[in-house]
Amino acid sequence: MSKGLEIRLASRPKGWPTLENFDIVEVEAPQPGDGELLVRNLLMSVDPYMRGRMSAAKSYTPPYEIGKAMEGGAVGEVVASNAEGFQPGDIVRHLRGWRDYAVVGAKQATKVDPQAAPLSTYLYVLGMPGMTAYVGLVDVAEQKEGDVVFISGAAGAVGSLAGQIAKLRGASRVIGSAGSAEKVRYLLDEVGFDAAFNYHDGPVAEQLNAAAPDGIDVYFDNVGGEHLEAAIDALNDFGRVAECGMISQYNIAEPEPGPRNMFMLVAKRLRLEGFIVGDRAHLKDQFVAEVGGWLREGKINYRETVVDGLRNAPEAFLGLMRGDNIGKMLVKIA
Ligand code: NDP
Repeated sequence: MSKGLEIRLASRPKGWPTLENFDIVEVEAPQPGDGELLVRNLLMSVDPYMRGRMSAAKSYTPPYEIGKAMEGGAVGEVVASNAEGFQPGDIVRHLRGWRDYAVVGAKQATKVDPQAAPLSTYLYVLGMPGMTAYVGLVDVAEQKEGDVVFISGAAGAVGSLAGQIAKLRGASRVIGSAGSAEKVRYLLDEVGFDAAFNYHDGPVAEQLNAAAPDGIDVYFDNVGGEHLEAAIDALNDFGRVAECGMISQYNIAEPEPGPRNMFMLVAKRLRLEGFIVGDRAHLKDQFVAEVGGWLREGKINYRETVVDGLRNAPEAFLGLMRGDNIGKMLVKIA
């Protein structure tokens, strides 16, 4: 019988999460039932939405339970199968990360081809973050050719892809903000943003106005707070905001007042729409065809920040919150 680790939620954070909120426990590998697979996880994703699930607050996904293993996107190898269509050796993507061994219902597992692309692709460019960037721009913000697009959290997984997709779909100018000089250089030199700034260097509004003297048409918001206020100010008439995330608000203990300039939504006829990628599954084939094509043609630049070892997954998650990552933050399990 194999043993493995699992990471459990030990307590709910108040404000910033810490290592104390996690428990690392050794357990026997579970037994798959009828229609289930036993998967040995190889790679897992840590994502900002997990911060929401560590809280008790009601949201679009249920809170993690205290004392139980956490969950999230992962890729692993099937080691035993009680389900038709799956065999030991198959590589699958599923939602039971945060553990070495996972029992996964066959319906919740998607076979992926490790020959076609590196495993990380299925958790990044062709996985949830890629799809988020794509649907946010194409479906929510209805980005058009010639638009000036501003993206916050631009050096992260979603943001760096959103910038490239905007450009590939004909944006006239793509501007990004991120939290360090190294990230700004990455955006300008490697990812192809037309302008980028470090939001720690001065007020966002000033830096955004300097980068977008003629205003912006689309704002892809990953951050909220000061960034959102600055973007509302800079948006041109009939501008659109894809409200993807507000990471500046995830770790604050008390809610902060929102943008002070919401009245501009009326005068400028702006549209601001929140979205959750899971609701846009009907665009999956379109996403895979378009972004998969660019990926094969070598038109997508992607970086990964890989933390080694399941034991270090809590630290990887905290690092993601602090901004330690360029591109996608991943944890290599085996
Ligand atoms: P990232 O790879 O972008 O990692 C998070 C980044 O957020 C950090 O690297 C850090 O970079 C930045 N950050 C942290 N705190 C702040 C702050 N106070 N102000 C500004 N930036 C901050 O994560 P993802 O790409 O996975 O997610 C990006 C956003 O998209 C998140 O808001 C997430 O919740 C959202 N999301 C939404 C989905 C949906 O369906 N709506 C699906 C997936 C993600 P820096 O150094 O620049 O500060």
